[in-house]
Amino acid sequence: MTSPCLPEPVAAGPAERRRTVPVDIGGVVVGGGAPVVVQSMTNTDTADIDGTVAQVAALARAGSEIVRITVDRDEAAAAVPHIREKLLKRGVDVPLVGDFHYIGHKLLADHPACAEALAKYRINPGNVGFKDKKDRQFTAIVEMAIRHGKAVRIGANWGSLDQELLTHLMDINAASPRPIDARAVTREAMVQSALLSAERAVEIGLPQNRIVLSAKVSAVQDLIAVYRMLAARSDFALHLGLTEAGMGSKGIVASSAALGILLQDGIGDTIRVSLTPEPGGDRTLEVKVAQEILQTMGFRTFVPLVAACPGCGRTTSTVFQELARDIQSWIVTSMPEWKTRYAGVETLNVAVMGCIVNGPGESKHADIGISLPGTGEAPSAPVFVDGKKVATLRGPGIAAEFKTMVADYIETRYGAGRSAAE
Ligand code: SF4
Repeated sequence: MTSPCLPEPVAAGPAERRRTVPVDIGGVVVGGGAPVVVQSMTNTDTADIDGTVAQVAALARAGSEIVRITVDRDEAAAAVPHIREKLLKRGVDVPLVGDFHYIGHKLLADHPACAEALAKYRINPGNVGFKDKKDRQFTAIVEMAIRHGKAVRIGANWGSLDQELLTHLMDINAASPRPIDARAVTREAMVQSALLSAERAVEIGLPQNRIVLSAKVSAVQDLIAVYRMLAARSDFALHLGLTEAGMGSKGIVASSAALGILLQDGIGDTIRVSLTPEPGGDRTLEVKVAQEILQTMGFRTFVPLVAACPGCGRTTSTVFQELARDIQSWIVTSMPEWKTRYAGVETLNVAVMGCIVNGPGESKHADIGISLPGTGEAPSAPVFVDGKKVATLRGPGIAAEFKTMVADYIETRYGAGRSAAE
């Protein structure tokens, strides 16, 4: 017998965002409930000023809200203020983060204009200095951040973990009556490395609202565990990223799985997707993937979404794939202009479906959708706007006509005249 009541609904959506202390990075707020920020990193030689300016500008144009650059030697440090200046002249005001290893204390001291031009210094507690130099050099960098009013990311990394700390924890574990497995000890060392360094930075005088933590690992399950531990044991703002994610679909899938789970847990204030580009490939892909993770999960909106079915034996012609691809790339290339003319256009949902099975239903759920004829179906394509069938397209001009309808829809819904119409 059917019960007169519906079962308790299962809540959809992420866990409540973990409350962290907000950090202002050159005007971009990370943490404290602010929208999750997208970051990226250049792969140019920072000493190549024009090359780095071009790539930072491309990353910022693609939507990166903070861009990190390598500062590995004097020539790179000397180039940083010029890079910042050239970017500002181009109207690109994206905050720059300097990535320092081994000699950051010296580079920042010798190049005060670099220290000033950067919005944040990223240091790795595993290689900031060794033995008696470690605290001295760490302190020097933190004091520089205090003097210049900058933020610091303390970024532990599995590949360059603080070996003294790891050895110490391994020794404690070996002497324990119930030793845990070595990988768990390494995860604990990652967490402690980040937290102890952050506590030390606060002790030196850097306020917590200038500290971001990260603990990057290349294995998805380890990454999830490490960040859950970090989140449970502190309220520092957290930068998420799967380090050495890899190339192509491997890197995209691994990053999406790891970051998606953590974001769903309410963990993470800023993300970077560390993809290895193809030789000569487009560096901005990592920005696109980061945006797509956030948008797909419903945390932020960046570009209109195109829902397309995968196609099957009912779509034996390529018309449907071509239209889906055509609409997608038309939207991406139109967005820079649309953003200036149509406030809120990034929330648009478009559906391009392959046949009558799910086509009309899915198209009705979109703001505007088209259901193309599958194999053996009448050669007509109904178009739905706001859930209602408004037209049936036929013939070779379907793609062009549908694009015109999408453009008209955008003009009506997001254009300057919309308030008059509403
Ligand atoms: S909507 Fe039609 S063409 Fe697309 S996957 Fe479903 S059955 Fe296949």
